[in-house]
Amino acid sequence: MSPTRAGAERALSASPERNPHPSKTSVLRRPILGGTLTMLDLDLIRRATPATRDVVHLNSAGASLMSTRTLEVVVGHLTLEARIGGYEAAAARQAEIEGTYESLGRLVNGRRSEIALFDNSTHAFNAAVYSIPLRAGDRILTTHAEYGSSILAFLQLRQRYGVEIDIAPSDESGQVDVAALRALLCDRTRLVSISHIPTSGGLINPAQDIGRLVRGTGALYLLDATQSLGQIPVDVESIGADLVIGTGRKFLRGPRGTGFLWAREASLDRLEPFVNEIEASTWDGADGYAWHTGARRFETWEKSYSNVLGLGAAVDEALELGIDTISSRALALSSLLRDGLATIRGVRTHDLGVRNGAIVTVSADGVPAPVLARVLKDNRINVSLTVPEHNQFDARGPAVHPLVRLSPHYFNSEREIEQAIDVVARAVAQADGES
Ligand SMILES: *Cc1c(COP(=O)(O)O)cnc(C)c1O
Repeated sequence: MSPTRAGAERALSASPERNPHPSKTSVLRRPILGGTLTMLDLDLIRRATPATRDVVHLNSAGASLMSTRTLEVVVGHLTLEARIGGYEAAAARQAEIEGTYESLGRLVNGRRSEIALFDNSTHAFNAAVYSIPLRAGDRILTTHAEYGSSILAFLQLRQRYGVEIDIAPSDESGQVDVAALRALLCDRTRLVSISHIPTSGGLINPAQDIGRLVRGTGALYLLDATQSLGQIPVDVESIGADLVIGTGRKFLRGPRGTGFLWAREASLDRLEPFVNEIEASTWDGADGYAWHTGARRFETWEKSYSNVLGLGAAVDEALELGIDTISSRALALSSLLRDGLATIRGVRTHDLGVRNGAIVTVSADGVPAPVLARVLKDNRINVSLTVPEHNQFDARGPAVHPLVRLSPHYFNSEREIEQAIDVVARAVAQADGES
């Protein structure tokens, strides 16, 4: 057993999941949460992420921090392009470029040929969803927690084709109600589209339970793994997804402007790529063309190869550290943060679901969210704000937004979490004193 593996095993036995009711003090006193990374490892990881010296980055759900290695791969390729020419640089790095597809395939437990690269998750979503042949009366089944752009796409498809949109209700915990979703699945359902982890809350949806329901029906199962990739394990086989979308910049720590679609080989025949171009198909010399094999039929020809290589480097780094290892630490840090914030009088966390991920949403009496976010920023703590426009059907109601969203990752330290809790506590105490 490799040292990382052994570390991960230890970590799991110490993780909050195995011990669902740790006392507050035991959580707060545990020196290295999750036990996955030794002091030295964390030190190493933080040195390989120089920004951690200057800012407390609790915004990995927005855009995380690239490691020095990933940055060097991006800059290195740009430099090579400038030195020898863009086409020549791509040819020189052909094997490494293919390596990005290979790594993304491994990340989701799929195949290299099932990966298509995009410049974000939204375009990956569009490539999949706009390629589904739809007719009036067809149905799209989705949830309250879907991302703003996905909902807008569904609304356009409703206008264009007369498809119906079904929204599965949430259960008492706030995650999608699996039994209710099953009741809504019918023979006109063409697509079941679920956010694994929504953009504006710590909820982890039961992706695997839903996969079991969808399998064998006529519907395609799309999992929006934009927030979950790099944060928790995503295995297309155990989940039973047909389509998965992801972005590079969030918990995967890749460069901005990267994203990908994984499309199960067996689902390709059920999709008609919504655009055709020279990367998508081959002209037959007369009036016809043949789609390229694999998911690359969804891609466009021109790409930012520095970004493609940077994404590959970031994914390789995550795989080397181990997704389980990364995940248990990110989730443990967020529990520490969520629990700490919840002990402050007048402060509420808003994360729904049975299982919580590394996104913590919070509001404070007497301190509007934009003010709280500014106070955190003044203390060099990076966070973001949720908005109702990105969460049209939020089960918590549109009025819950804006919330302050804090999203730790494995490179954060326990001390940084305590700092954030302290700043919030002081802001609330000050507002209380002023009122
Ligand atoms: C950020 C996000 C998206 C969109 O990703 P982009 O890369 O910005 O297109 C989609 N879904 C979820 C859940 C997200 O958090």
